[in-house]
Amino acid sequence: MADTPPPLVFDTSFDPQTGQPVEVLPGIVRVTAPNSGPYTFTGTNSFIIGAERVAILDPGPDDPRHLAALRTATGGRPIEAILLTHTHKDHSASAARLKAETGAPLWFAGPHRLSRPPHLFELNALARDCDWRLTPDLTFFDGESFAAGGVQLTAIATPGHCANHLCFGIEGTDWLLSGDHIMGWNSTLVAVPDGSMDDYLKSLRKVIGLPYAHYIPAHGGPIIDGPAYARALLAHRELRNRQIVEGVAAGATTIGALRERIYPTLQPALRFAAALTLRAHVEYLAAQGAIRMRRGVFGTRLRAA
Ligand SMILES: [Zn+2]
Repeated sequence: MADTPPPLVFDTSFDPQTGQPVEVLPGIVRVTAPNSGPYTFTGTNSFIIGAERVAILDPGPDDPRHLAALRTATGGRPIEAILLTHTHKDHSASAARLKAETGAPLWFAGPHRLSRPPHLFELNALARDCDWRLTPDLTFFDGESFAAGGVQLTAIATPGHCANHLCFGIEGTDWLLSGDHIMGWNSTLVAVPDGSMDDYLKSLRKVIGLPYAHYIPAHGGPIIDGPAYARALLAHRELRNRQIVEGVAAGATTIGALRERIYPTLQPALRFAAALTLRAHVEYLAAQGAIRMRRGVFGTRLRAA
């Protein structure tokens, strides 16, 4: 079939050259932060955009080593703005300090917010990873075009991983700065209520439909065939949806039972993330009427629609 999606293959071969400035495109330099980990891969990629004047995209964790590396890479050039793809702390924790030091304004898509109102007694697993107090000096709207360090960019609203997530298209090229929305090393964590599977799937389809061929994510290396990879991600999520509907039809009544069924050999360290992702899928499927979900004192109960 002509529209069969390509297989999903993750690329974990990236050499971040942590702390070193690496030119990824003319006028765009990557500096990877020293915060590697199970959710950040080789660390957060910060980008310095421009030539005589620059903007910094995702200044990253509030780590003096990384701020020193950014200072060295900017080499005293004036910093026109600090841009954020979103307000998870691995991207934004140093933004307030950098703003205080340089006077550069903060530009992003509005204060951190949940993708839907929380339910009574609902725990937000990502609450401590979010920068709740950071406010922008300029709030981007979807599709807004602007110059940063003399480079023309377009802000593209891509909620899903979290509600205020943006990708940035580099105008005059077919390259997209894809943040955490699309990364080559792994699929993106989508955890409710911080994120939303419905938003994420819509944002995947949105980016696939845009004229960008190559993606530069906030963790890991570039994705050369961006839209084909994004279609593989979408197919992977659709497969997961089908497995959940089948699992519930076969008698799984809890997220834990679904996890045992769908990821039988998962390492303990990844079980929590798997449960978060399954919950986001379950909520999406319940909203679609594909399964039924009841939230009770003893947890979430599932049954076939
Ligand atoms: Zn991140």
